[in-house]
Amino acid sequence: MEIYEVNNGVYCVDTLVGGQKEAISCFILDFERAAIVEAGPISTYRTLLEALDEIGVRKDRVRYIAVTHIHLDHGGASGALLKELPEAKVITHPLGVKHLVDPSKLWKVSSSILGSLADIYGQPLPVEANRIIAAEDGLKVTLSGEELVVLHSPGHAPHHAAFFLENSRILFPGDAAGMFMDGYLIPTTPPPFRLDLAVKSLERFEGLNPLYIGFTHFGMSQADDYLDKAIEKKKLWVQVAEEVVEAGGGVEELHAKLLEVDEDYRNLCRYYSSSDIILRMYKVGLMGLVEFVRNGR
Ligand SMILES: [Zn+2]
Repeated sequence: MEIYEVNNGVYCVDTLVGGQKEAISCFILDFERAAIVEAGPISTYRTLLEALDEIGVRKDRVRYIAVTHIHLDHGGASGALLKELPEAKVITHPLGVKHLVDPSKLWKVSSSILGSLADIYGQPLPVEANRIIAAEDGLKVTLSGEELVVLHSPGHAPHHAAFFLENSRILFPGDAAGMFMDGYLIPTTPPPFRLDLAVKSLERFEGLNPLYIGFTHFGMSQADDYLDKAIEKKKLWVQVAEEVVEAGGGVEELHAKLLEVDEDYRNLCRYYSSSDIILRMYKVGLMGLVEFVRNGR
């Protein structure tokens, strides 16, 4: 496990999923009422518990596990973590609740889309309904000295919500702002991706003027102009996907074309060239993009 303190009381934990560095981060907000942002996959929940221990957050201080959406790599560990964190509740978009309570359908669909990547993430445990906060847009929870705000942000998935730590102005966009590393940024667009909603969500984030962005994939960065870039990239990728699909191509052709036209994609594929996990995550995103344009947008 690796932990970085990225801001006063805010820590980024590298979950090292499947042994892979810099693939999935979770964040620990060490306030008197502490919170976790992103549970991560169930296969790494112990890593997160060890991180709490190392930072010195007693288990009964954790009040919230804020998950941006119920996909296995973000919300998968919720049920397992709740068993260990007696005072915690999971915060999720209302549309995510039923999949936390009964993850069987989510698991089935995820396995069919992700293949063996689903096994690396692991099968989630059910969450008791009385330990879930179905968060309406704009809900604020208090962490003593800080407020964590829920922002419904569909596009990546209909049940996606981002979180904003108000005083520190840190945005946790889940998958809504794409995958980031080392200054490079690409969209993450697994099925069912929606461009119009995704752009609206990003424009809304821009209105908050965040100072930092805590990317689940991967790590904390200064916000700079990355939200702008995320919008541009999404539009560019849809345009490229339309051209590729029109010419009769699919995921492989789209991958080749993006390597040609998008420097960030080229650099990220190079950065993670030995990472089967990341490259497969990328391919699942391309699948969603191809499906989106084939369905006539
Ligand atoms: Zn993800």
